[in-house]
Amino acid sequence: MSRYAIVSTVFLVILLGSLSLDGVFNISLYWYIGLLLVYLSMNVYGAVVLSAQYFLRTRCSGSQSVSSIAITFDDGPVPGMTEKILDILKQHEIPAAFFCIGHRIKENPKLLRRLHDEGHLIGNHSYSHKNTFDFLSATGVVKELAETNTIIHECVGVTPRFFRPPYGVTNPMIAKAVARLNLTVVGWSIRSFDTISKDKKKLFNRVTQSLRGGDVILFHDYCDVTISILPDVIAHASKLGLKIVRVDTLLNEKAYG
Ligand SMILES: [Zn+2]
Repeated sequence: MSRYAIVSTVFLVILLGSLSLDGVFNISLYWYIGLLLVYLSMNVYGAVVLSAQYFLRTRCSGSQSVSSIAITFDDGPVPGMTEKILDILKQHEIPAAFFCIGHRIKENPKLLRRLHDEGHLIGNHSYSHKNTFDFLSATGVVKELAETNTIIHECVGVTPRFFRPPYGVTNPMIAKAVARLNLTVVGWSIRSFDTISKDKKKLFNRVTQSLRGGDVILFHDYCDVTISILPDVIAHASKLGLKIVRVDTLLNEKAYG
């Protein structure tokens, strides 16, 4: 049973209990408004905080007892940018995970092949990555994810089991789709905010200030600022004695079906 189902059941029980006692105690309207606001707030929090595991099981970090971390990149492949990330990873012999967008793979299949050939993990990050993704029905979400997996399979011969929801937002429709396709939702424990960060130093500090074993870092492979700090982040992890591994190794989960 998901946390959403538990919270909804408790909310309904309290609501029905209040209504049944209303005749005796004349319960204030403010009580009902407050109850509804608490329920809605919990749902909003659960939708935007992936690690809350509110609608579905998510994997956001590995065990803190390990001395390894994983680096992940979202939203590619982006020609002219992803290659620069790949060159840095190759130079340092570091494996990473790339959560790719279906339509971008279709436009850049060679780049996906390079990702795969160089030993990086490929995950599903939806087909369109539109900001209306979270309003799709469960069938609509299944279509997006299945289409992306088909493109990846046609391109490199593997079918991803890892899915990262666009914007990190989840809801009951996404939970249904993920269950239907038997996917694992992979989040992060360190969000770099590299898409809005302009300052190299601030970005580096945000990523490294509490870096420890088990962490999963979220970057995007189309940001200049990410490309500029990546070698320093790799060096910093090494200085801390942290080995950078693929996220499937860190989470001990199968990456492909
Ligand atoms: Zn994204």
